[in-house]
Amino acid sequence: MINLIVLGATGSVGETTAQVLRQHRDLYQIEGLVARSSGKRLRELAAEFHPQWVGLTDEAAGNELARETHLEGIQVLSGLTEILSAMRSAPPSKVIGAMSGFSGLVPTLAAVDCGFDILLANKETMVAAGDLVRARASQSGSHIIPVDSEHSAIFQCLGLDQPFKRIILTCSGGPFRGRTRRDLEHVTVEDALRHPNWVMGPKITIDSATLMNKGLELIEAHQLFGAEYHKLDVVIHPQSIIHSMVEFIDGATMAQIGWPDMQVPVQVALSWPERWSLTMPNLDWKDRQLTFEEPDHQTFHALSLARQVGLAGGLMPAVMNAANEMAVAAFLDHQISFLGIMEVVESVVEQFSENVAVKDLEQVLEADSWGRRTAQSLVWAQR
Ligand code: NDP
Ligand code: MG
Repeated sequence: MINLIVLGATGSVGETTAQVLRQHRDLYQIEGLVARSSGKRLRELAAEFHPQWVGLTDEAAGNELARETHLEGIQVLSGLTEILSAMRSAPPSKVIGAMSGFSGLVPTLAAVDCGFDILLANKETMVAAGDLVRARASQSGSHIIPVDSEHSAIFQCLGLDQPFKRIILTCSGGPFRGRTRRDLEHVTVEDALRHPNWVMGPKITIDSATLMNKGLELIEAHQLFGAEYHKLDVVIHPQSIIHSMVEFIDGATMAQIGWPDMQVPVQVALSWPERWSLTMPNLDWKDRQLTFEEPDHQTFHALSLARQVGLAGGLMPAVMNAANEMAVAAFLDHQISFLGIMEVVESVVEQFSENVAVKDLEQVLEADSWGRRTAQSLVWAQR
């Protein structure tokens, strides 16, 4: 019986996790469910899954939930401190890391320090502090199992420690594939939120439109699989049927193939090292076209920027991630244009002159704050 904690239970990956769990009621019990402020939805999930505790990191929302909620035997926690302390006193558990953005870092480190396996969708954590998370995981014996679909695909192809020549991350190209920079001058938030193949939370959907999502995934792959950057390639595959590929040293290439549905990567991570059954329609191969093209680096700068930032290493990825989170939030809030997102991110990365290797969390938190402050002043200048 797996004991499970879900961080980000009310989001897109959190809800997909619930969908998977409904199909395997006898294989797990829920220890805790965590969100930021979606008290109503968290209460519904608690009534369905009967966790030991639920927690909201937003204290006001947590206090309100505690006042209003009378779920027998379920403790209601408010604020990150109470949540982290409940995690630390939990019995051995698997933790689904599905919070959005940099907010996932501290709870991920707490899970890792407990020696719990972390099933990680939250790529920003590996981008901003992958060196730290890996070092602490190897000290505690915690496994980091990818949930991001590309990394799940690589994980499924690669197995444990096989020598490979190259990893090829596939990328749908997002809603603006084939457009020029000129075409993108006046695109709206609604246009950018219309992803052709995946339904996801707003931040990652905008990242998919700028291709920063793939840039973050390059760094994530470097961290998760120890792949040097010259062994990491990206290919545009608009149908999102091949989720990524690994080329081995003997010339064989393995690909993981399936519908674009996050249930599979979530379940692969949950069931690892076993496989459970899952109700999924068969792929129909007749007349199916799978196509591949080179990314358009002229129009989408994010991929090459992320590669440079990844190569620089140290605190630089945390700074880029912070600037991107601020710029995406400003775009979603109609404060800057779509092309303005990458202008802010590129400018913040250019201004950062104090890059050093990551030794502790404090440094990462400081670099993140610096990136956010610098991005915010550029957002104000653009308005
Ligand atoms: P959503 O925005 O849909 O959900 C985010 C979840 O995290 C919500 O439960 C939210 O709670 C919670 N959350 C946000 N901020 C905090 C905080 N400060 N403290 C505690 N909880 C918080 O995001 P997604 O599910 O789309 O993405 C989650 C992560 O998974 C991201 O890192 C993303 O890049 C990654 N990912 C997502 C994929 C997808 O298909 N969606 C695919 C691959 C990776 P509340 O509802 O209360 O705000
Ligand atoms: Mg992905």
